[in-house]
Amino acid sequence: MEPARLSAATVAVTAGRPDPLPNAPLNAPVTFASTYAARAHAAEPQDVGYGRWGNPTWTAFEEALGALEHGEALAFASGMAAVDAALGLVSPGGVVVIPGSVYNGTEALAPQLAAQGRITVRRTAGIEAGEVIPALDGAAMLWLESPSNPLLEVADLPVLIDAGRSRGAVVVVDNTFATPLGQLPLSLGADVVVHSATKYLSGHSDLLLGATVTRDERLRAALHTHRTLRGAVPGPMEAWLALRGLRTLHLRVERACANAAELARRLADHPAVSRVRHPSLPGDPYHARAAAQMATMGAVISIELAGGPHAADRLCTTTRLWVDATSLGGVESTLERRRRHAAEPHAVPENLVRLSVGIEDVEDLWADLATTLDHLG
Ligand SMILES: *Cc1c(COP(=O)(O)O)cnc(C)c1O
Repeated sequence: MEPARLSAATVAVTAGRPDPLPNAPLNAPVTFASTYAARAHAAEPQDVGYGRWGNPTWTAFEEALGALEHGEALAFASGMAAVDAALGLVSPGGVVVIPGSVYNGTEALAPQLAAQGRITVRRTAGIEAGEVIPALDGAAMLWLESPSNPLLEVADLPVLIDAGRSRGAVVVVDNTFATPLGQLPLSLGADVVVHSATKYLSGHSDLLLGATVTRDERLRAALHTHRTLRGAVPGPMEAWLALRGLRTLHLRVERACANAAELARRLADHPAVSRVRHPSLPGDPYHARAAAQMATMGAVISIELAGGPHAADRLCTTTRLWVDATSLGGVESTLERRRRHAAEPHAVPENLVRLSVGIEDVEDLWADLATTLDHLG
């Protein structure tokens, strides 16, 4: 029988701590080290010897994230470094199937790797099984991002993961938006989870960090080799700050998701807003699927402005509490018109504003949004 698992809230607080020996600190210290004395560790060849191979502060963060995602985590310099490492698992020329539209960094990196002959990219416009499964013939990897950034499309994870696995493809899920509190892709059979820990995991908009998580020792070793040889390594301070942030993941995500659900409901009734994307809304095309496979609906909302791109820009530059800034997943609420980035996929409407809902008081957040929206005309 498997031992009963602690709840994620308890794991977030307790995992990745030093043993409570007499006078030991409760928290893992920040270890600033490029090299480690060899002799003390000579009998333990698995111990780190050089700063690019490993670091005790990374290990503490990795233990905590691994415990939350139910796998073995590796920290990377950024989310994109983790994405690059995961794509690097594909043998030269192997086919990577990417359904729908995904984070613009992944959208840009995949064709670049294809142009170099590293991989072959096969896109499907939609994310539904009827379109994705036929594209999996001969695929080496299936790349899923759900909910997707910024269109908030929710893929049928149980069905697509199963379809990928049964055809021998390595299935990767970018779990940045859902966090391990929202869904556990490895438990559904996915091979690798990738994270931009820059977002919810660290949660305070003060660092860049990425991570991979897997249960497959062969894949973990390949990802570790990639990190070491490419030098895609995080700084110890970043890993420490991310672990500090992770301690409150459950509280932050719970509040941000509750705020987002309430704001999505109110935004859907505002005449200046022509469309609200958030899986919590009963009218959202992904509501039923998200309710079935996700424990929380996420704290990103994407809205389309009835007044077009101009109104979207006005909204972003006029709010007082909401800061016009890219990125997401911090304690503070931010918003931006995504198509201001030249690299943003054209599937994203010009009038779409992505809101990253923070943990402030929801009435203050609404008052700021509503006042601004009321004056858009
Ligand atoms: C931000 C983001 C990334 C990239 O992460 P960085 O930490 O910015 O390198 C990857 N995937 C998703 C879904 C993201 O939102």
